[in-house]
Amino acid sequence: MLPYGRQSIADVDVEAVCEVLRGDWLTTGPAVAAFEAELALWTGGVPCVSVTSGTAALHTAYIAAGVRPGDEVVTSPLTFVATASAACLLGARVVFADIEPDTGALHPDAARAAATPCTRVVTAVDYAGHPADYDALREVTDAAGAILVADAAHSIGSRYKDRPVGSLADLTTFSFFPTKTVTTAEGGAVAAEDPRLLSAAALFRSHGVVRDPRLMRRPGEGEWYHEAQSFGLNYRLPDVLCALGISQLRRLPAFRARRVELAARYDAALAAADGLSLPARRTYADPAWHLYPVRIHGGRRREVYDRMRAAGIGVQVNYIPAYWHPVFEDLGYRRGMCPDAEAYYAEQLSLPLFPGLTDGAQDRVIAELLAVLE
Ligand SMILES: *Cc1c(COP(=O)(O)O)cnc(C)c1O
Repeated sequence: MLPYGRQSIADVDVEAVCEVLRGDWLTTGPAVAAFEAELALWTGGVPCVSVTSGTAALHTAYIAAGVRPGDEVVTSPLTFVATASAACLLGARVVFADIEPDTGALHPDAARAAATPCTRVVTAVDYAGHPADYDALREVTDAAGAILVADAAHSIGSRYKDRPVGSLADLTTFSFFPTKTVTTAEGGAVAAEDPRLLSAAALFRSHGVVRDPRLMRRPGEGEWYHEAQSFGLNYRLPDVLCALGISQLRRLPAFRARRVELAARYDAALAAADGLSLPARRTYADPAWHLYPVRIHGGRRREVYDRMRAAGIGVQVNYIPAYWHPVFEDLGYRRGMCPDAEAYYAEQLSLPLFPGLTDGAQDRVIAELLAVLE
């Protein structure tokens, strides 16, 4: 089965990992800071804290934002469930706001309508790699006194009004899962310009433990001494995986170029086809496409999915509206809340898109899709 997404691992990646495996530091060593510095080259210099997954990054970002029981977190339902569930784990109530029907990103007007005095965070999702409208969302969070979080699991390397993803929100989260644009097998990161947000993220990643004597409540106990000043977890990304991440980030320009090229090939080949529509691109956005999401009209998405899969083409559906999951249903969330996201989901199909997809394999996807739609 041709997958809808897959990693690209080259000899340089393998060598980078092996070098760390033969060295002294499997974790908490020098590759961690080196990876974070390499990542900051992609966030416009905004510093980053690496963690063990995109989900850990969301959990960490919500902790840094001070999300507590009784707070509200406004986000889009057209996302992987972790965007919402990480906030629920902290006792927050997630308020789902509808999407822009063309881009699939959180709609600023819907976010504004959903905001209340309890809103602690608004989380945008850069669906498929297309950045949300951050200037409009910033107006919403400024008015609400809330923190703007970007779930950029899809959008590393994308740009909004010539500014890089990672520099657009107060906190940005990345995922380095194998289907994503850059991989560390499992991994993620949080980017934040504000040093208080960044150090809160770094503390939570590592048990809430402080080792700098200047920051301790009781310094002078001895060199072994350290203090847990808040509760935290072990979300540390090991050096082995950071080394893979450094190597992958150095290949990101090529990954990005190939994804953009493949998306343009889909655009050209499918522009005239009946029965589907292609992903929108706003003039302010320069996306490093993670997904190529088409919409299949005429109630035929299920049929097209089944027939493409039967032909060995691993199309995917991204995403089931988050509040459709039973865990949200059990909390009282009901279908129909966000009609544009539900309409998007009903028609959505992700076509294969990854750097190793050859022109020939893509042509087969296109031909099969056109044949199914006939
Ligand atoms: C992949 C993804 C996540 C979760 O990342 P993991 O690394 O798989 O934990 C969160 N949000 C979105 C939008 C994602 O695509």
